[in-house]
Amino acid sequence: MVTNWAGNVVFAARALHRPTSVAQLQELVAGSERIRALGSGHSFSRIADTTGDLVTLAGLPPVVDIDAAAGTATIGAGLRYGEVTPRLHEAGFALPNLGSLPHIAVAGACATGTHGSGNDNGALATAVSAVELMGADGELRTVRRGDPDFAGSVVALGGLGIVTALTLDLQPAFGVRQWVYEGLALGDAEEVLASAYSVSLFTYWEGDGFEQAWVKQRDTDPEPPARWLGATRADAQRHMVRGVDPGHCTPQLGEPGAWHERLPHFRLAFTPSTGEELQSEYFVPRAALPDALRALDAIRDRIAQVLLVSEIRTVAADDLWLSLAEGRDSAALHFTWVPDAAAVLPVVAAVEAAVEPFAPRPHWGKVFGMSPATVSGRWPRLPEFRKLLAEHDPAGKFRNEMLDRYVPA
Ligand SMILES: Cc1cc2nc3c(=O)[nH]c(=O)nc-3n(C[C@H](O)[C@H](O)[C@H](O)COP(=O)(O)OP(=O)(O)OC[C@H]3O[C@@H](n4cnc5c(N)ncnc54)[C@H](O)[C@@H]3O)c2cc1C
Repeated sequence: MVTNWAGNVVFAARALHRPTSVAQLQELVAGSERIRALGSGHSFSRIADTTGDLVTLAGLPPVVDIDAAAGTATIGAGLRYGEVTPRLHEAGFALPNLGSLPHIAVAGACATGTHGSGNDNGALATAVSAVELMGADGELRTVRRGDPDFAGSVVALGGLGIVTALTLDLQPAFGVRQWVYEGLALGDAEEVLASAYSVSLFTYWEGDGFEQAWVKQRDTDPEPPARWLGATRADAQRHMVRGVDPGHCTPQLGEPGAWHERLPHFRLAFTPSTGEELQSEYFVPRAALPDALRALDAIRDRIAQVLLVSEIRTVAADDLWLSLAEGRDSAALHFTWVPDAAAVLPVVAAVEAAVEPFAPRPHWGKVFGMSPATVSGRWPRLPEFRKLLAEHDPAGKFRNEMLDRYVPA
């Protein structure tokens, strides 16, 4: 039995394959009727599932090919961020942003529009400048930024084929310090989110506002004050979920460190988050954040029944067709739930009803209940993506139930 990381999805695949070369992968893909790639399995939705063959690229050579002159790295698609980023750092380079955990595969993260935080930081897929894809016949093709189909081929939900390599834009390595502030008002959210390179706000929807704000600064920025907007800087390391060991988190308290050891919340060697949970997340236009927070606050008692913690982040607009931030600077409203789908799903429906006036887009990799018509209406470029799927996968080899539901042929 193969499951996702959370254990809430038992994959329907008849087999999980682990090729060790591109040639083996080609043979597998060409000979299979239905096949999907599995990243590190950290999605909570059935996005990676298939009734055919599931294939992990984790056994392929761990290529990280840095082109210092071009400022790019071409990496094997099976690699996880935690395997790629130290090698980039050693060579003097960085990625602009990272998600909350280094445990996820780069290709799997980019396929669902995974993001970190920062008003000026795009989703992780915005660092991709080229995608090498294996099509239904096993042949490889490369789609580069500037090609007509590029914007539909990065956040592609695994539907265009097996991504075998990604080229990522690099920038010079940089240092980051993170502080945790405690006790911020809901009304100060926009100011706090705009105050540093990457900021996350955490709330249990119990008190007057945010229990914690995690402020990640470039280490060249001036140290923030000990008291700020009525909040106090924590004097010890914190975890955002009550009762979980703070040692699982990347160092706080302003201790300087490399970008890849501070931008994620969690350390690679430890379980990220709680390990027993479900997650949901919705992107709304950033300008709607104050109203969306008030709408959620109005149903706080329902949310709190099944909540472990909520996180609010910001993501800059991009032009990737299925990106959660496509065409709009966004605020991301995240919920870590108890691992009880029966109890959580009615609350997910209540959250979706509360934020519906703000045209929410659900995270493709998390739990949501919105109707297919509503979901597809939220992405203006989805009809073009449907055409792209029809063109590159006419027999539906890479389709699955989730694509059939939200992006029907
Ligand atoms: C503890 C925890 C924290 C999280 N934090 C964040 C966060 O900070 N921000 C955020 O946005 N999300 C977050 N997520 C969600 C997670 O990042 C996404 O669901 C992400 O897509 C998971 O990547 P993965 O490698 O596990 O992909 P999987 O779940 O394995 O697969 C996701 C999709 O990618 C496709 N795919 C994978 N590899 C390939 C390939 N080689 N070629 C083609 N398609 C491929 C799969 O078919 C599937 O459609 C978190 C999840 C967990 C469990």
